[in-house]
Amino acid sequence: MVKTFTFEFRIFIKKMTIPEAQTLPKADLRMPQIAELEKTCSQVRRDIVRMVHAVNSGHPGGSLGCTEFLTALYFSVMKHEPKKFSIDGIGEDLFFLSNGHISPVFYSVLARSGYFDVKELATFRKLNSRLQGHPTTHEGLPGVRVASGSLGQGMSVAIGAALAKKLNKDSCLVYSLHGDGELQEGQIWEAAMYAAANKVDNIISTVDVNGQQIDGSTDQVLPMGDLTAKWTAFGWDVLTMNGNDMNDVIKTIKTAQTHTGKGRPVMILMKTGMGHGVDFMMGSHKWHGVAPNDEQLAKALAQLPETLGDY
Ligand SMILES: [Mg+2]
Repeated sequence: MVKTFTFEFRIFIKKMTIPEAQTLPKADLRMPQIAELEKTCSQVRRDIVRMVHAVNSGHPGGSLGCTEFLTALYFSVMKHEPKKFSIDGIGEDLFFLSNGHISPVFYSVLARSGYFDVKELATFRKLNSRLQGHPTTHEGLPGVRVASGSLGQGMSVAIGAALAKKLNKDSCLVYSLHGDGELQEGQIWEAAMYAAANKVDNIISTVDVNGQQIDGSTDQVLPMGDLTAKWTAFGWDVLTMNGNDMNDVIKTIKTAQTHTGKGRPVMILMKTGMGHGVDFMMGSHKWHGVAPNDEQLAKALAQLPETLGDY
């Protein structure tokens, strides 16, 4: 009886401790690292509202909501080489932004992590700029590997890149980000079926579940029901996280990494608040694609400390 208990206890301890140790190295949760990432988020949010205000055009809502996620990817999670950008990205983790309209957060994080000079953020949405409203590849902006903005296509591209990595025996991962409104596109579900059927298990896709899209709440426009049940039914390994809590973002992505290589594509359903970080922009679809005026910009910047220096 005692032997059995000891044996079972050992098994229990193993079950309790090994996944934790594998999925979350303690160093990743040290407060200084989280605090540094949060400081970077404040600067990225300043960049977003300043860029959109400067040209009275662009999409601040989703950009602000996805700031923690993109900052975590580019400053902590991904293996990537900003100074040696190549379109193929062999030996690097790749990221594909499918909801391309949130380009302000993408451009800010690319610049701040070293892909190009932060001064170029001042050219956002201007004629002949490399920083167009929706990212494209023909401008040659380092960090951009796909034209996006026509919703629904990015997952197919990311799956293709993930398959290429498998063919090339490249063990790095592919990440993609999608809006929840984007899930109303049929191509998403074709891609989802394909990835599961073909065991594309080196991809981690994330959906920004902010419950909003351009014309209103997703429930008003076209309700999608239980997203966890849907993605699970389509053969994906589904995780959830609070996308505006840096600690949870880092922890969940690290966990997602340990779920790769097991025969199933990985999905993170990321709950965020549209406009997060600027009080009067939060919780509504109204700031999906509207620029702040001078007064609103000042009010927003007062809530976002300058941490890395404005461009
Ligand atoms: Mg949305």
